[in-house]
Amino acid sequence: MTTLLIKNATLIVTMDGEDRDLKDAAIFCRDGFIEQIGVQADLPQSADRVLDLKDHIVLPGLINTHHHFYQTLTRALPGSQNANLFNWLTYLYPIWAGLTPEDIFTSTQTALAELALSGCTTASDHLYLFPNGSKLDDQIEAAAQMGMRLHASRGSMSLGQSQGGLPPDSVVDTEDKILADSERLILRYHDPKPGSKLQIVLAPCSPFSVTGELMRESALLARRYGVQLHTHLAETEDEDDFCLAKFGRKPVAYMQSLDWVGNDVWFAHSVWVNDDEMNVYAHHGCGVAHCPSSNMRLASGIAPIMTMLGKGIKLGLGVDGSASNDGSHMLNEVRQAMLLSRLNSGIKGASRSAPDAPALMTARQALSIATRGGAAVLGRKDIGSLEVGKCADFFAINLNRLDYAGALEDPLAAVVFCSPVKADYTVVGGELIVEKGELKPIDIAKQTEKHNAASRRLIQK
Ligand code: ZN
Repeated sequence: MTTLLIKNATLIVTMDGEDRDLKDAAIFCRDGFIEQIGVQADLPQSADRVLDLKDHIVLPGLINTHHHFYQTLTRALPGSQNANLFNWLTYLYPIWAGLTPEDIFTSTQTALAELALSGCTTASDHLYLFPNGSKLDDQIEAAAQMGMRLHASRGSMSLGQSQGGLPPDSVVDTEDKILADSERLILRYHDPKPGSKLQIVLAPCSPFSVTGELMRESALLARRYGVQLHTHLAETEDEDDFCLAKFGRKPVAYMQSLDWVGNDVWFAHSVWVNDDEMNVYAHHGCGVAHCPSSNMRLASGIAPIMTMLGKGIKLGLGVDGSASNDGSHMLNEVRQAMLLSRLNSGIKGASRSAPDAPALMTARQALSIATRGGAAVLGRKDIGSLEVGKCADFFAINLNRLDYAGALEDPLAAVVFCSPVKADYTVVGGELIVEKGELKPIDIAKQTEKHNAASRRLIQK
């Protein structure tokens, strides 16, 4: 048994059901779970490891619900900088066709390093192409060394250009192979227990890159084993046109026709959903991974997330792939979500200051989406808030810093409103992943060098 005591924290933001904030507070953890949380004087005064977090704010670990780690190898490429989704994809697919197992490993560690340093403790990744012998196992092995929680999505593409899909035939697989590999991965790795560090998700890539048959078969397989389902949906207006032309339905109706709605399903983006479609999500319990930076980067649109919250839809945040962000900074994404939602408040001109104007998203709401919201989207009850019995997953930021100068009346707001900073401490299951601003599992300088060499090789192929 190992114990960890966090003491003297200026503020602990619990994100529990009552949104309690604790001043001069402490957390006592045992074997990776929170055993006690509260004011300093009421808690044990010693432990195997004690961290004095005077002047720090402590928050639940951020949960990233949508990413493509491999894209860290192809960030900000000149040919992809100023394109919308379909053009961006058709430019990048041939480059991604050169990915190797080593590339998957390296890019996974780079993305998780960035995420950990930005306060993230749980990440879901959507890997949907497996060229040159690559496997999801390459990512799983890399993530295990980083100590973070991973929801590894076994993605897939089966609808190549010759069949009317968007990706070139060189990056698609046969459906038999995809389904057999999906089942193998679930049986080998999926751990549904509280405190799980690894879960498998089945994730055909998008309506325009797989067949309806693969969607249906994936849903049957996922439900046989109780694993979650994930895909991109309603990201752009082009996708509406594609689905109407090819399937005679808009994306959400198409998903309904494939039995792809339910508590076990979450969709990335959902920018282009109308009121009726959001009601379908709410009724069936579908979750959404909101990716504001990517939606701005690719000029996809603004997702109606305040409306989704109003309807009780499970909503989490995702940085999305690093070729459309081009970073993995979760705290930055929290800020982007808050700011972008304000542009979409549906009010114009002078009516913005009218007494009955719609409420603007608050810093607390944005953080709640990235913590409790993300946990609900991933189907987890053991993470997302700091409460007795939950995983000891949190991050801390020293408030004494230039970035927050003049903003300490409300430290929680400073974390979201001020420029996004890096975490000083990130703890996953009671283990320190970031300590005094330094990443523990791997050497950042060596990783960056290795990553850049892999990136150059991939781009020059
Ligand atoms: Zn994506």
